[in-house]
Amino acid sequence: MVPTAHALPPTPIPPASGSTTPSPSPSPSTSSTATPTPSASPTVPRPPACAFADVTTVLPSGAATLAVLDTRYRLPRGWRPAALVELQPGKRLQPQAARAWQQMRSAAHAAGLRLALISAYRSETYQHTVFNRSAKRNGRAHALRYVARPGHSEHQLGLTVDLGTAAGVALEAEPVAHPKTRAQRTAVWLAANAARFGWVRSYPKGMQARTCYASEPWHWRYVGPSLAAAQQRQRTTLREFLWTQRFPAPAAAVVP
Ligand SMILES: [Zn+2]
Repeated sequence: MVPTAHALPPTPIPPASGSTTPSPSPSPSTSSTATPTPSASPTVPRPPACAFADVTTVLPSGAATLAVLDTRYRLPRGWRPAALVELQPGKRLQPQAARAWQQMRSAAHAAGLRLALISAYRSETYQHTVFNRSAKRNGRAHALRYVARPGHSEHQLGLTVDLGTAAGVALEAEPVAHPKTRAQRTAVWLAANAARFGWVRSYPKGMQARTCYASEPWHWRYVGPSLAAAQQRQRTTLREFLWTQRFPAPAAAVVP
C-alpha cells in the first residue's frame, strides 16, 4: 500500500459489538456454576482468527461486493471485475464505485475539503509488484502486516480506494474530537459522511486482531449506502460485518 508504515500502538481491542458480553473471550465458558448471561441477540457468526493462508473466498454476488478478503481469504486466481471505469490515467473502479467516488469527492469539495484518489483497482499481477516492493524495502514481516498478498487485496475488487488530501499525499490522520489539520478535518468528515455514499473504512485503528491489518486511514471500500449503514449500525469491523452477510439471518433467537 502506498503510504509509509507507522507503528501500531498497543491499543486494547474493544469487544465486538453485537455482543452484550463485556468480555471478548472467543470461547464460551463451560463452567456449570456460571450464571447464564441473559442475551436477546442470537449468536452472530464470527470470522476465524486472522492467519496467513490461501482459502478461496465466497463470492455471494457477481460484483463481489460482499467478498471477505483478508490474510486468509483470497479471490479465485486471476479474478477481475467484469467492468471497470477509468477515472484518471491508471485509476479504475467498478462503475458503481466510480459514481460513488465522484459523488463523495464533490460533497467533500462542497465542505471545503479536497479528496484525491491515490490508488484504485489493482490486478493480482500488480499486487505482486506492490507486495514485493514493500518486502524488499522493509522486510517480509513488515510487508505482511501492511500489504495484502496477491489475490488477497481489496483493491483487486475494483471497489476500493486509497484516499489522499492531495495528489500523492495519502490520508494518514485519524478522526479526532478537535481536528486542527486539514488531514484531521478530512478524517473527521469521512467518518461522518463516507457511509452515506457507500464507503466503509476497512482497517480502523487498534483493530488489527479483527481486521488482520494495521490501521489504514486512507483505505476505504465501497459496499453501497444500505450495507454501509447496516455496518455502522452493527458497530463492528467491515470484515466481521461481511462475514455475517455470508450466512442467512437467524430465523429467530432459539432460547433453550
Ligand atoms: Zn489500500
